[in-house]
Amino acid sequence: MANSKFEYVKQFEQPDSLLPNTWIVVRLDGRGFTKFSTKYAFEKPNDKRALDLMNAAARSVMSELPDITIAYGVSDEYSFVFHKSCTLFERRASKLVSTIVSTFTAYYIHHWPTYFVDGPPLSPPLPSFDGRAVCYPSVQNLRDYMSWRQVDCHINNLYNTTFWALINQGGMDGTAAELMLKGTFSADKNEILFKKFGINYNNEPEMFKKGSVIFRNYELVEPGTKRVGEEAEEMSSAVPEVKSKSQVEKDKKARTKAKIVVEHLDIIRDEFWERRPWLLS
Ligand code: ATP
Ligand code: ATP
Ligand code: MG
Ligand code: MG
Ligand code: MG
Ligand code: MG
Ligand code: MG
Repeated sequence: MANSKFEYVKQFEQPDSLLPNTWIVVRLDGRGFTKFSTKYAFEKPNDKRALDLMNAAARSVMSELPDITIAYGVSDEYSFVFHKSCTLFERRASKLVSTIVSTFTAYYIHHWPTYFVDGPPLSPPLPSFDGRAVCYPSVQNLRDYMSWRQVDCHINNLYNTTFWALINQGGMDGTAAELMLKGTFSADKNEILFKKFGINYNNEPEMFKKGSVIFRNYELVEPGTKRVGEEAEEMSSAVPEVKSKSQVEKDKKARTKAKIVVEHLDIIRDEFWERRPWLLS
């Protein structure tokens, strides 16, 4: 390091490392995508190309950062989960968030021509994303976080599907459609879809209804089987696990080799997590 009279300024940097032994979620969200989706004529309410592109960018992020355990995406947002034992960047929040957001944005632009084949090329203002990191201290909190996002996906998609059916097939304008849906419950929207337009909401594409979940795939565990030592693990889960250096390297290698899959599954119910115990262990 060159000794200069200026280097004292480095001391102005504030520490921002996140609480140890907690699950870190970095969520990013497209900036001004209401406008962006109009500019590139996204199909409403769900443009499949745009969702596939989000998934491709998220998948690329996951393959570059083996510390990410699982990711969940819907609309213009993606959540990336770091294991509670993660030590990447000494858990510094700004390093984690800025790396995820810039890597995601770079790949979003890189993959754009693959998914928007016939459309115009990207032009300024270019797509950009905001990001934040939140710590969840327990598996329950983390699962509730994931459930929160998937419930949001369901509620928004049911609303949007009905809203756009009223406009595209029902010939209503936005104001009339909004008024018609004001104060309605899920059952009412299902009924409008079915009775007015013959649409059975259950038959809508899984990606639209459930969003997308990305994870490293290993062999599934049969439902209802408890792993050896699981109870002991539950008892001692308050103590941060210290892995040997060689174990950490081995795990990392296995993670790098595992296939990254994009699925559209229910992540609210226990089954998803029980069958993939490596995600939360
Ligand atoms: P902000 O910068 O505050 O996030 P925003 O305009 O991006 O503003 P959001 O609440 O994030 O607001 O909403 C995302 C917008 O992008 C919605 O209008 C949604 O319809 C649109 N959008 C995102 N993905 C798609 C898609 N695959 N198909 C159609 N529309 C989409
Ligand atoms: P920000 O300026 O922090 O980005 P936002 O309202 O855009 O504010 P996000 O965290 O980007 O919030 O939104 C994530 C999701 O949370 C959105 O789908 C939104 O509908 C929902 N949301 C926003 N505020 C609340 C809240 N107070 N309680 C529950 N859900 C909320
Ligand atoms: Mg926001
Ligand atoms: Mg917003
Ligand atoms: Mg947005
Ligand atoms: Mg959004
Ligand atoms: Mg540097």
